[in-house]
Amino acid sequence: LARISKGLSKSTSRMSESMAASFTKRTLDDAAIEDLEDILIASDLGTGPALKVTSRLAQDKFDKQITDLEIKIALADVISEILTPLEKPIVLGAVKPQILLFVGVNGSGKTTTLGKIAKRFTDDGKKVLIAAGDTFRAAAFEQLSVWGERANAPVMSGKIGADAAGLVYDAIERARDENFDILMIDTAGRLQNRTELMDELAKVLRVIKKQDETAPHHSILVLDATVGQNALMQTEAFAKTAEVSGLIMTKLDGTAKGGVLVALSDKYNLPIHCIGIGEQVEDLENFSAPVFAAALSG
Ligand code: GDP
Repeated sequence: LARISKGLSKSTSRMSESMAASFTKRTLDDAAIEDLEDILIASDLGTGPALKVTSRLAQDKFDKQITDLEIKIALADVISEILTPLEKPIVLGAVKPQILLFVGVNGSGKTTTLGKIAKRFTDDGKKVLIAAGDTFRAAAFEQLSVWGERANAPVMSGKIGADAAGLVYDAIERARDENFDILMIDTAGRLQNRTELMDELAKVLRVIKKQDETAPHHSILVLDATVGQNALMQTEAFAKTAEVSGLIMTKLDGTAKGGVLVALSDKYNLPIHCIGIGEQVEDLENFSAPVFAAALSG
């Protein structure tokens, strides 16, 4: 809790500072409700959740004195209610290999997160194969290789610019032949060429399904918390094509924008697996709604 709270302290302090400034003992009239809504929406919480907080407060407290502590409690309750049903660690099924696809825009923390999770799996005694599906960036393969070494998992790559779907086909074959428990597939994320990227992802998915119609067993969208509202657009872009089944939000250690996870959850209802709170291998936590709600509401 301490580490996540520390990470989220920027979001918290911004939200609670603006609340403290306008709400230390104030009558909850229409103007106050409007001010509060503005603060909550500015924190990227989303309009729906922000209205939930204010309408809940107005039920008991309209035209009465209200303190910032009462507001924080209502805020934490609403956040927790929205996020608790979505709290869901990555669970592996019985089929081997379990195929896990990682998608997201470049820079979101996809490769780092895949590496952290690979290490968790191998520490747990699982045999893991990694496929470097971003075949356009040599640096992406090098970075993944470093994580592969840390996790003691081999990393497969194709030639620069080669077809990602071909690599994925080969990786599934190898995972079967060599009896791997898990195949983790990193993918490209150049959103500036969105159509090409989505076509490539769709092709990767077709290849996976041809080999195993129950796969991918997880399609995990990695989102960078620091992009704020852009996370909504990214989710919209990937959700369908990549058949996203769950989220991981990274960089919650350095941002004032953690609130966007609430807006996202309110809109897309996707399970939240983990949160990234730093660059090191241990900086990944299973998602806990109450912890997140407490940290975010201060
Ligand atoms: P990719 O392009 O999506 O594969 O992103 P990378 O995994 O290369 O990550 C981009 C940058 O973000 C790297 O410098 C990572 O070390 C950093 N990063 C990833 N996750 C986190 C996190 O949770 N917190 C912080 N502070 N940095 C992170």
